[in-house]
Amino acid sequence: MKIRKHKLIISSLVAAFGVTFFSLIGTLMASEIVASQAVVMPERSWYSNYDDLEVLGLTTFEANFDGIDENFEHTNGTIYLTFDDGPGEYTDRLLDILKSYNVKATFFVTGKGDDATIKREYDEGHTVALHTFSHRYDLVYRSVEAYFNDLNQVAERVKNITGEEAKIIRFPGGSSNAVSAKYDGGIRIMSILSQEVLNRGYVYFDWNVASGDAASASTSDAVFVNVAAHLKEGANVVLQHDIKGYSVDAVGRIIEYGLANGYDFQPLKVDSPVVRHGVNN
Ligand SMILES: [Zn+2]
Repeated sequence: MKIRKHKLIISSLVAAFGVTFFSLIGTLMASEIVASQAVVMPERSWYSNYDDLEVLGLTTFEANFDGIDENFEHTNGTIYLTFDDGPGEYTDRLLDILKSYNVKATFFVTGKGDDATIKREYDEGHTVALHTFSHRYDLVYRSVEAYFNDLNQVAERVKNITGEEAKIIRFPGGSSNAVSAKYDGGIRIMSILSQEVLNRGYVYFDWNVASGDAASASTSDAVFVNVAAHLKEGANVVLQHDIKGYSVDAVGRIIEYGLANGYDFQPLKVDSPVVRHGVNN
């Protein structure tokens, strides 16, 4: 496939931020930009959106490319697509998309959805990881015991479906969440849990590229721009939710954009580069 030359321009401001600050503030910035400029996005084929990045004023380094070249070296970095809160009604569609590109991703699953969908995730080579069973902040962050009771429930579910013990987890709200302070009776539960999960043999991942699909990004274009504009060298752990149809609809574009810009795609493994936020509670 031949794509005409485009300029991708990314903010030096954003690039200068640390991972944590970037993930929290960068998303806000991008969301605001998208929110205020979303109307300028015309209905065009997806790669035209590269021009929109420029329109959005995302500036600094230029990545020129001539299209997806089979000999292009994947040296820019790795993209770990991760999907939280499923499985849900759009997950099978997402699995079809991933299959068509032969891209493997990571699913942080809950107690919801069909067992068959989790089975399919596993059978098709994706990483099935744990996100808590209930995903209720008021329950899981009430105490350390409550958290592990809930985690064990989803761990059990996954093991029954796949036959394997999942060792990768993501905290609801991320390890940096402050909302847990509302429910933990002042014990600073994230400080405890972030250590205790490691003691119990789990590995946890946060993210350093937020699609904003659980916040202000409510269109496929906005999700795509938030992700594409914040890719950087090295490990890119992208947060999306497969319970959002418009977010799933952005995945094909994200993959083609990543491939065209020298990224490869991998599922998270226990020894993947550590991407974690700072703990705030
Ligand atoms: Zn979640």
